[in-house]
Amino acid sequence: MLYAYDDNGKLSSLYQLSKEHIEQLKKEKTYFCPTCKESLQIRSGRLHTAHFAHFPSSNCERKHLGESEYHESGKWLLYQWLNRQGYDVAMEFFLKGTNQRPDLFFTVGDKRIAIEFQCSSIPPDIIEKRTQSFHDAGIFPLWIIGKNQYRQKGKHQLLHTSFHRSLMYRFHNNFMMYYLDVKAQTIIIADHIQGASTTLCYATPRFYSLKSFTFPQLFTSASYPSFSYLNIWKKSMYHLRTTYHRGVGSEERQWRQYLYLKGKHFTLIPSVCFLPVPSQSIYHMKSYMWQTRFILDHFLDKPIGDVIKNEQKVRCTTINQYQADPIHEYILLLGKLGFVEKVGSGEWVKRKEIQFPTHIDQALEEDKKVMDFLRSETNVLL
Ligand SMILES: [Zn+2]
Repeated sequence: MLYAYDDNGKLSSLYQLSKEHIEQLKKEKTYFCPTCKESLQIRSGRLHTAHFAHFPSSNCERKHLGESEYHESGKWLLYQWLNRQGYDVAMEFFLKGTNQRPDLFFTVGDKRIAIEFQCSSIPPDIIEKRTQSFHDAGIFPLWIIGKNQYRQKGKHQLLHTSFHRSLMYRFHNNFMMYYLDVKAQTIIIADHIQGASTTLCYATPRFYSLKSFTFPQLFTSASYPSFSYLNIWKKSMYHLRTTYHRGVGSEERQWRQYLYLKGKHFTLIPSVCFLPVPSQSIYHMKSYMWQTRFILDHFLDKPIGDVIKNEQKVRCTTINQYQADPIHEYILLLGKLGFVEKVGSGEWVKRKEIQFPTHIDQALEEDKKVMDFLRSETNVLL
C-alpha cells in the first residue's frame, strides 16, 4: 500500500518521495497499517514503486485486497486535497452501522460524507446496495470515478455504460458525474449529461486542478452546455431514418421485429416517438425504442378521450436520490404537443391521434415541425 500511519499517528505516504528520502525513512521510522494497526515494512526496489507491506505472518484483510496502484494513489491525492482544506479525513474508516469501509470519510458541519474512488467497472446493483447503506446511515456517498473509465468520443460524447449510469448525480436541474485524473491531479466534472445511446452520452466536461479547487466547488452549478442538444438530436433522428444500419444489437433487432409484427417499419415511426426527455441519460433503453412501445401499447388503440396511464415505473434513481421518471417527462411533452391533456391529478386523456408517416419525406418534414416546436419551448430540455 502507498500510505500508512507513522509513529506519531500521522497518515503518511511514500508517493513521489525521492529514493534517498525513502532509504532514510526506512532506518528512522516505523509505520503501521491503517486497517489492522500492525507494523509494516517499506519495500523499494528498481521494479516497484516504493510501498508499505505487511510482514509474511500477518493476517490483515488488506493483504489480499489487491488494490491497484492507480486506486491507491488516487485515494492518497484526494486525502491530501481534503486535508489541505482543513477537513479531518479518515482513510478506510470502518463504519460499524454500514459494515463498510469507504475510501475516505469525513464530516462537514453536521453532514457525514463517504468518498468512494471507483476505478474498475462494477455491477450497478453493487453500487446501488452500497449507496443505499450509506443513505440508511445518514451518510452522503460521493462516488468519484477513475479517469481510466472516462472516454471521450469526439467533442461532446462520453462513454456512458450501465456502470456510468449508476453513478450519476442530479444537482441544479442537471445530471452530472465526477471523475479524478490521478496523473494530471485533476477533477473532471461531466455536466449536462444527456442520453445518446446505451453506451454514449452527450456531456460538457469541466476540468479543475486539485491545487486550486475546493470541495464545496464540486456542488456549484455549471454554466451552459457547450453544445446544442436539439441539433444533435435532430441529426440522430435523421440518421435513424435514412442510414442503413448493419449488425445492430439484439435489443434493436427485437424492436424492429416488434414493429414489423404490427405492420410498421422503424424508419417510419412518428416524430413523437423520438422526443428528447431530460432523464434519458439515466434510462437504459434507447429513447425511440421505449417511446415507440409506449405509443403502440398504451396510446394508439385508445379512442379520443380515453385515459392514458403511466403504469410502467422505471427505476432511474441518481446517487443523491433524485427519482427520474422519463415516461412522465415524455407524457408532459405529448401534452405540450397537444396529443394528451391533463385532467385531475396524474391523469391524462388522449386528445389527438398520432399518425404514422407513409414515406420518408413526410417523416422528415414532420421531424422538422416537431423540432421547431421544441426549440420554441426552450425550457423543455435544460
Ligand atoms: Zn493491515
